Amino acid sequence: MKKILMLGTGGTIACVPSENGLIPALDGKTLVSLVPELAGLCHIDYKQILNLDSSNISPKHWQLMANVLAENYELYDGFVITHGTDTMAYSSAALSQMVSGCKKPVVFTGAQLPITTEGTDAKDNVLHAFLVATSQAQGVCLAFGNVVIHGLCAKKMYSENFNGFCSINREPMATISGHTLSWNSYEGAGVDGESFSVYTKLEEKVAVVKLTPGLAPDILDYYLERGYKGIILESFGAGGVPNDENNWLPNLEKLIQNGVRVVCATQCIYDGVNLSVYPIGTLAQKLGAESAGTLTIEAALTKLMHDLAN
Ligand code: ASP
Repeated sequence: MKKILMLGTGGTIACVPSENGLIPALDGKTLVSLVPELAGLCHIDYKQILNLDSSNISPKHWQLMANVLAENYELYDGFVITHGTDTMAYSSAALSQMVSGCKKPVVFTGAQLPITTEGTDAKDNVLHAFLVATSQAQGVCLAFGNVVIHGLCAKKMYSENFNGFCSINREPMATISGHTLSWNSYEGAGVDGESFSVYTKLEEKVAVVKLTPGLAPDILDYYLERGYKGIILESFGAGGVPNDENNWLPNLEKLIQNGVRVVCATQCIYDGVNLSVYPIGTLAQKLGAESAGTLTIEAALTKLMHDLAN
């Protein structure tokens, strides 16, 4: 029987009511005890590493998750991480960057409703996560609603709908119908031949700046003065920056000349960035701005945090 380690980090899935609304309180063992279909599927051990609303998750918590994975990698066949949905796509993207050569499934899941609420999605999601954790899948992924998504490609699309996450710019690894997984590919973050390692260093001085029509470029000076090392510009459409009356190019150039990495991402959900199409893109690129390609904001941010530190 496969051995799976379940890491509890909190989120709605583990919540109970309080005076100020839902707070995470239930541990992994309790969550699993409420999903009788798991009996006999695998041997499960538990570690409650956090119990947070995921809006309170920060890079130090990703480092904790990566370290716990590293300590237990050889002891288990797979891992399930229960997590709040609000920042689960950031955590799955961060962990995807921080582990390499991972030949075992590391599966994030959570729920839109607490596991003790009638009609909850939590029980199905936990069961699906364990089905993935006991499969041939490799690397970091997210099992939620009706899909299994590569850890770098997940985005929370709904704040309530049970099919809360989509796979962006890549087909889902699997779709789920009832309790059956139909795999499109087992391919994950693991790379053949490479041995498992974790890279826990992250540069935290990285920010996402969202462009809005008419926003003045001097906002970039703030980040330079504060010692930021990387900026993700969440630009419009195919990417780039305003270059006309409200000209962002001089402030962009100043950042880059001071050694700050600037990556252009897009506010569009699908298709990604192509800086070669318009002057707003080509001129920024000539100054040294990089393209996030097809990465989501979550993946672009965590990749830059990882790349700057390693
Ligand atoms: N606020 C919760 C969290 O992210 C929402 C959820 O888990 O669905 O922790």
